[in-house]
Amino acid sequence: MVQLIPSQDAVMQILTRTGAFREGHFIYPNGKHSPHYFQMPLAFRYYDTARVLAVALSRKFRLEKDISSQLPKVAVISPSSGGIPVAFGVRDALNAEQIYWAEQEHGERMFRQYVNQGEVNPCIIVDDIIRSGHAIGETVNLVKSLGARIIGCGAIVRFDLAPPEVEDVPVKSLIEFDVTIYDGDQDCPECKKGIAPEHVRY
Ligand SMILES: [Zn+2]
Repeated sequence: MVQLIPSQDAVMQILTRTGAFREGHFIYPNGKHSPHYFQMPLAFRYYDTARVLAVALSRKFRLEKDISSQLPKVAVISPSSGGIPVAFGVRDALNAEQIYWAEQEHGERMFRQYVNQGEVNPCIIVDDIIRSGHAIGETVNLVKSLGARIIGCGAIVRFDLAPPEVEDVPVKSLIEFDVTIYDGDQDCPECKKGIAPEHVRY
């Protein structure tokens, strides 16, 4: 059965329309400058948009034999709060059995108490956006410490700076984004043009 996955351009249009993708002159918390910024929850505030994006991502997972053969005994896992709506949407589309999301407590990424060794199904880790891959890496370690196997990983947007695979599993995304980032105002063209920067949070 052929299933439609929207093109990268179509997904970018959705992100632009909802305000999740913004162009301008931004300074990130680490001091780097960029002409673009993603604030993904702005796309997920609209239920219909959230559904379109999550269903599209789920179709990429369903094409993987290692995933489709194990459904519904699969866990969909979010590294942080931003990935929770993605996790619920993907779970719904795949009819997977479990959902977990990690939170940062005392600087450490963890699940809620009483999630025990051996209870977590084979996992698909999903997020709204993968920038450096750091959160995904920590979540991989968390999942492995509970004795679960990673069978899939993906996000709506993956920065091209992030690893293309984790634990020998390819990272799926609807958009592979070619990141433009400058170390500081010295080499930032927007600074040179005198455009006032906006300070943004992750
Ligand atoms: Zn700048």
